Amino acid sequence: MSSGTVICWVLPFTKTILESNYSEKEFPSKEWAQGRFYGEEFNNILREFVVDLLTQMGNRTVAPSLSSHWKIIYDDNIGHASTWSERHAAYAAGLGTFSLTDGLITEHGMAMRVGSVITELVLEPSPIPYKGIYGNCLHYNSNTCGVCIRRCPAGAISLNGHNKDLCFEYTCKKVVPAVNEAYGVTMPSCGLCQTRVPCEKSIPRLSKINHE
Ligand code: SF4
Ligand code: SF4
Repeated sequence: MSSGTVICWVLPFTKTILESNYSEKEFPSKEWAQGRFYGEEFNNILREFVVDLLTQMGNRTVAPSLSSHWKIIYDDNIGHASTWSERHAAYAAGLGTFSLTDGLITEHGMAMRVGSVITELVLEPSPIPYKGIYGNCLHYNSNTCGVCIRRCPAGAISLNGHNKDLCFEYTCKKVVPAVNEAYGVTMPSCGLCQTRVPCEKSIPRLSKINHE
């Protein structure tokens, strides 16, 4: 049996990008839309760089989300899902937990991009600093907050969690045409539930709840 390592990283959005989204109520700001687009372009370059580096060191390595095998699938039971989830890999690697929005709350918050590669190189695993899949979200660990519910223009977040179908419908059918026309960005991005919320740039504490 062969062995290896999944290497994951987190790239937080800057304070300027976060704050540009604070006053938005329907569509993302220009900075958020472009940060999402170019941030992912940068993330892809980083994936390729890490793959090349580890391959040159003699370890077969792949970036799953750049693989031709990667695709989005639809299942009646789980809705839209991908064949490799960067967020699930990061959760398993100890970088953060899920939340009411389905976003990953990391040490650097939920407003970020995640990336990963799978390599034959064997590295010491990082510690897992949390208990449970929702450990960093105030809704689940303290039965409070819910600020993200009010931030969602699509009504896709409730106390029952994140409705992926409603979110997908809103971001693909409303956000994409709007940000394409306004900023020339063609990537689904909304991010309102990731900004102006207590978990945007760190693991939230009860004292930081921002009741709008
Ligand atoms: S805003 Fe509050 S309830 Fe929503 S994901 Fe963040 S910590 Fe959880
Ligand atoms: S990304 Fe936008 S539409 Fe989707 S849950 Fe967050 S705020 Fe709602």
